[in-house]
Amino acid sequence: MALIVQKYGGSSVADAEKIKNVARRIAATRDKGDEVVVVVSAMGDTTDELIQLARQINPRPPERELDLLLSTGEIVSCTLMAMALNYMGYKAVSLTGAQAGIETDTSHSKARILRLEPKRVVRELERGNVVVVAGFQGVTRDMDVTTLGRGGSDTTAVALAAALRAQRCEIYTDVEGVYTADPRIVPEARKLKEIGYEEMLELATLGAKVMHSRAVELGQLYNVPILVASSFTDAPGTMIRGGTAMEVRNRVRGIAHDVNVAKITLVGVPDRPGIAAAVFQPLAKANISVDTIVQNASINNITDLTFTVARSDVDKAMPIVREVAKTIGAKECASDSTLAKVSIVGTGMQGAPGYAATMFRALSEQGINIQLITTSEIRITCIISEDRVKDAVRALHKAFELEKAEL
Ligand code: ADP
Ligand code: ASP
Ligand code: MG
Repeated sequence: MALIVQKYGGSSVADAEKIKNVARRIAATRDKGDEVVVVVSAMGDTTDELIQLARQINPRPPERELDLLLSTGEIVSCTLMAMALNYMGYKAVSLTGAQAGIETDTSHSKARILRLEPKRVVRELERGNVVVVAGFQGVTRDMDVTTLGRGGSDTTAVALAAALRAQRCEIYTDVEGVYTADPRIVPEARKLKEIGYEEMLELATLGAKVMHSRAVELGQLYNVPILVASSFTDAPGTMIRGGTAMEVRNRVRGIAHDVNVAKITLVGVPDRPGIAAAVFQPLAKANISVDTIVQNASINNITDLTFTVARSDVDKAMPIVREVAKTIGAKECASDSTLAKVSIVGTGMQGAPGYAATMFRALSEQGINIQLITTSEIRITCIISEDRVKDAVRALHKAFELEKAEL
């Protein structure tokens, strides 16, 4: 008898019929004799709808209130799932994140898990229950409810799998696995049989929303094998695990894209020590992550500073940047929220020349202008205009011949 953690995403539990369908799948796992912990997301677009609703009441809702509101979405789906199982004759109990023992830090809307004490989960398993946990949420030491960031139910699932030493974590979604690019944009994208944590972490961080990046990080840290598969079919999915062959694959493994990108530029910045710290320290203090940073070579000791943040953070970032601009004597500052990020990822790129040139050529052949470029050992990222991002993903998929990739 194995212990398996299964997570079902929002589109898999979007209405009553779909909840019953998932309950049947959980029951089938139970019938095989395995113990099951289930993590569910909110039904369909519930989280978006709750955010809209909050904004109709208050355009800038207090983060604490918003988190408690959003956590209700997952509570609705976990209770309904327990009821569905119960009706089918299976013992099941639903738990909120707090009841499941998920303690987080206090950074509302992007909280990190500090501790997971799944005593209650274990007790319910021992009583013969399927335990259905509300994804995406935790609780601070002071008992304030937090959320883990959009897509965070994946992280709840992998964290529980690690804490319970489950045999594996299964992520069920609306596609059949991890593909060489978003299959909704590139119809020729190929499903990968397996992918290493490192490559999956890059893809997820760079926007492939099929997995929450922190879930992959936890999987790697605690060595939890993660299966990504469809909740609608029985097709074999993609295994994310360690120890996959890296050296032999001297190539790009996948293309990721992200439209949650905004650029902030400070023009006419005095070029002297301490300026970068003056800009980025207050942003860090406000819990805003800065991504790509570019500083031009200075002329007459005056320079321009450009960096990117998540588009969802730009309203919070701009007042801070305007304040800093005044104190350091910058001429002006501006933001642009019409950008996107497109990246090629593959451990096989390490130390091998030619990938950047192929990428830039493929984009230029489409007439796509590259605004910023960043690289790491295993990826190259270009910031481009959002309205060209689909063309860019398709062109890069073709340029690196991913439709022919052996999997
Ligand atoms: P869930 O609600 O189940 O968590 P998500 O919408 O968060 O599902 O993630 C699944 C979606 O991720 C797919 O519908 C697909 O459009 C998108 N996606 C982006 N990149 C990839 C990729 N490389 N492989 C598979 N799906 C991807
Ligand atoms: N319901 C949350 C969201 O829409 C969390 C999740 O689905 O994983 O982001
Ligand atoms: Mg998701």
